[in-house]
Amino acid sequence: MSGNVIVVGSSNTDMIIQLDRIPRPGETVLGGRFSIAAGGKGANQAVAAARSGGNVTFVARVGDDMFGRQSVEGFESDGIDVRNVLEDPQSPSGVALIFVDKAGENSIAVASGANANLTPEDVTTAGDAIRAGDVLVTQLETPVETVRAAVELAAKNGVQVILNPAPAQPLGEEILRHVSVLTPNETEAELLTGVQVKSETDAEAAAEKLLAMGVDTVVITLGARGAFVFDSEHCEMVAGFSVEAVDATAAGDVFNGTLAVALASGQEMLEAVRFANAAAALSVTKLGAQPSAPSLAETEEFLKSSTP
Ligand code: ADP
Repeated sequence: MSGNVIVVGSSNTDMIIQLDRIPRPGETVLGGRFSIAAGGKGANQAVAAARSGGNVTFVARVGDDMFGRQSVEGFESDGIDVRNVLEDPQSPSGVALIFVDKAGENSIAVASGANANLTPEDVTTAGDAIRAGDVLVTQLETPVETVRAAVELAAKNGVQVILNPAPAQPLGEEILRHVSVLTPNETEAELLTGVQVKSETDAEAAAEKLLAMGVDTVVITLGARGAFVFDSEHCEMVAGFSVEAVDATAAGDVFNGTLAVALASGQEMLEAVRFANAAAALSVTKLGAQPSAPSLAETEEFLKSSTP
């Protein structure tokens, strides 16, 4: 696959503890295993897109510290253009503390650090790269005015915009009308529309509302079940792949990054969503965010050998 993918978003270092179960408030649970991995929704999406063959530019801020430098080295080794990953002199790199239980479910706390300082001016500085993009992907772990600047600039220049509205927060039409593909999960779809998404019928009702808010295509991710696609041409489930779940962290990010590269390389929407379902399913079989993003060869092999 090919195509120019621009990711505007967050970079974090994830501190992960695997436990039998996630501690409740006030509780200490012993017996965990600790690891550190590169994470952050933006960075995960950039890495997933690069490993699937995209020509990726990442626009982000990290701190002037060891975590930031390690993250940037990782991006470089995945072939990502890091000229717009800025070292912030004011704040430390973003950090996430993640608990993962036996079933692969997680609970995450994030200290945003330098991610909170990514500005609309940083987007303007990256303007040449953005204008040369086929698809721009962004999420909500950086300030919303920066997200708005990115989607406006991309849409104005005919660059397809994927907005992953995560972590969930309300969004207005001034952002949504620039969005080509909105990719909420069930919780995010509910927050944006007020429709509780449990079934395919609920997903359709939520998606209809989002289309009325100005989005071209809605893709609601439904965990292991796959994703529901809704626009003027589609109203259907694209089935997920059955895998043994180890860690669901970054499944949504791998989905978004690989969807972006599939669309950037000209795949039709349903074909692109099937590819993203396969890559995201593979990511669930491995621990960690960026360590779990598969290569193009791995996803293609998996697609050949698996049926949803
Ligand atoms: P998020 O991680 O943002 O909460 P989802 O849980 O909906 O999003 O997962 C995103 C995508 O990852 C799904 O649409 C699906 O393709 C894939 N996925 C997630 N969990 C599983 C799973 N247990 N088995 C197979 N695929 C999964």
